This record gives sequence, C-alpha cells and structure tokens, in this order.
Amino acid sequence: MTSQVLFASAHVTRLDRDATLPAKFERLLEKADLAPRFGGKRVAIKMHVGSGIGFYTIHPLFVRQVVDAVKKAGGSPFLTDGSFSTDAAVARGYTPEVVGARVVGAGGEHDRYYYTRKTELEGLPEVEICGNIADADALLVLSHGKGHGHTGFGGAIKNIGMGCVSYRTRGAIHGLMSGHFAWEEERCTHCEQCVHGCPTGAVRFNEQGQLKISEHHCRYCMHCTRSCPTEALSMEQPGEKFRLFQAGMAAAVKEALAFFDPANVYYITLLMNITPLCDCWGFSTPPLVPDIGILASDDIVAIEQASLDLIDAEKLIPGTLPDQLCPPGEEGHLFQRIHGKDPYEQVCQCAAAGLGNSDYALISVE
Ligand code: SF4
Ligand code: SF4
Repeated sequence: MTSQVLFASAHVTRLDRDATLPAKFERLLEKADLAPRFGGKRVAIKMHVGSGIGFYTIHPLFVRQVVDAVKKAGGSPFLTDGSFSTDAAVARGYTPEVVGARVVGAGGEHDRYYYTRKTELEGLPEVEICGNIADADALLVLSHGKGHGHTGFGGAIKNIGMGCVSYRTRGAIHGLMSGHFAWEEERCTHCEQCVHGCPTGAVRFNEQGQLKISEHHCRYCMHCTRSCPTEALSMEQPGEKFRLFQAGMAAAVKEALAFFDPANVYYITLLMNITPLCDCWGFSTPPLVPDIGILASDDIVAIEQASLDLIDAEKLIPGTLPDQLCPPGEEGHLFQRIHGKDPYEQVCQCAAAGLGNSDYALISVE
C-alpha cells in the first residue's frame, strides 16, 4: 500500500502571489480536507516554538494558516509545546493576536501533568505523555524539518517522541544512548589526545577529572579511541546505542499516538530553513540547503521518509556549515554525513512499530 504525501514546493515559477509558497499552502490545506478529521474537535497543534535567540522556527504566517484551516474545518485549535516554552513562544511571535490561537504548556502549568504508559522496550519500562496533548480530541503535528545531533533529523517523529513527553522521559530516552564509551580511569594519563583528536568537541574532562563525552556531538569516527596511547578509552560497536535511542523515540511516539483515533491525527512538515541543529539550541545557524517546501500526510512514516528523501536530493550550500561541525563525508544522507547517525533509522523503527508506511506517493499541489 502507498501512502499519500501532499507537497507544496517552495520553488517560484513566476512573479505572482499565487505562485508563492503561502498561496500553494492554502491550496494544500484545502486539498487535505481537514473537516472530517477536526470538525467539532479540540485540536492540539504540536510544534517546537524554539528558544533563546533562535529565529528559524516556523514563521508565524504559516502557523496562522494552519490555525485558520483548523477553524475553517470546524475545530478548536490550540498550540502546544513543553510548558517551559510558553515565554519562548511569545518571543517568536506565536501569540493569539498573531497566530489566532493560544499556546498551552503541554505538561500543565507546572510541567507535572502527565499520563504514564508502559512500553515493551528494554531499558524504557514506561513513558510519560503530556496531559494537555493526550486530553485533546485530535492532534496536528506541525514540524520544522532540520538536522539533529542525536537523531540525525528532527521532523514529525522527533516532534512527538521528544516533544510530547515529560522531561524525565526525554532523559530516559537519552539514557538509552549513554554508556557507548568505556573509560578506564586508572589507565588514563590525562594526556588529552582524545580531547584534541575529536573533530566535534565532544570530549572533555570535568572539574573532577572525569572524562565526559557528548553523544549529541559524537559522530562515531573513533578518532578519540584510536588516538589514546594507553587504551584507556574504548567504544562499543558504533551505532548500537544510537539505534536504541531511535527505538526509544519510536516507543514514545507509539504511546502518544495511542491516545488518538488515527483518523484524527495529521502531520504537516515545513522543509524550510533546514539548519543542522535542533531549534532547542537557542540560536540559529545558516540553512544547509535551499528551501524545499511543505509536506502534509496522515502517515507519520511516509511524511518522514519523504522529508528525508527531498532533503537528500539537495546539495549543501557552501559556507553554511558551522566550523565545529565536520565537513560532510561522501557516504549516506546529508545528515548522516554531518552527524554520523543514519536519519532513516527513526523511520525504520516507527515502521517496525506499525505506525505507518515508508512507501509514499508525492502529490504536488500547484
Ligand atoms: S568517536 Fe569521534 S566524534 Fe565521537 S567522541 Fe570520539 S572523536 Fe569525538
Ligand atoms: S587519550 Fe587516553 S590517556 Fe589520553 S586523556 Fe584521553 S583517555 Fe586519557
């Protein structure tokens, strides 16, 4: 079976309002036929509102278009993200006056409102799903597609897997990735060759002289282990823990979506301002590839697969990669070449969890 993914391209063929992306997006939202999905329902629009001085989150104009489309479909929309983010939302213009809907903290005013659900994944016995999302009648996952140090790509899967869960669950999923390296303190001479050999600045010693490695920054090049003269530092099979992290995210996505009838869930992903890092960093760096457009689907696996395929078809814009990130290698997806993690792994994990179908047909909306 093939899933449909609607696509409005950012490419402008003529200098005419109707040929630009917001106009195409309006037509895409019409074609999406949201009334049967959202009519008469309280609709949680889950987005990442960013933080700090980041400026490449979704432009409020597009958020307003989504809010208006949900209202036109007969739904009552509210925007939601982590409870800590409501001030951050205002800083980027996501206010009721601008986007037409209020921002509600996903985990309640004090970030303590969650539903606990068991999972079958070893090492992740349970996940906590944000109460104000789970209580909605319908869910619209509005995502900004960009790179991500832990997952390779941050799109719809990451928007739910990391964004619809408690702080504690986020930590537990990150914990699945740790323990990748083994450091034998008694063998270590503190020569710091591992620190200087790491191309991404992932290795450091803390004030107590303990070696710490950031899994986010690590791209599994093994320069640190190979440069260690005393064999104090070693690494498990590269990528194993990364796959566990992705499995943890898929488990969280599955439990969050279980609160909804699939007929009441929809996904929209903007492939614009495709930066290398997540919007949670609190700052923005230049987009790596040209703007691509906007995707929409009722299948989370299909929209994620299509997002990654479209990004991979683009060429890196010279001079856009921050100096601390490695120049991309030759093999694999652009984000794998930058972050060392296969971004398709999360798509495979969600498909394996029965959440959707990676076979898709891209339907252009002109
Ligand atoms: S494997 Fe490479 S990127 Fe990861 S910590 Fe070691 S040197 Fe840094
Ligand atoms: S390279 Fe090896 S010996 Fe030197 S600081 Fe790193 S872990 Fe210790």
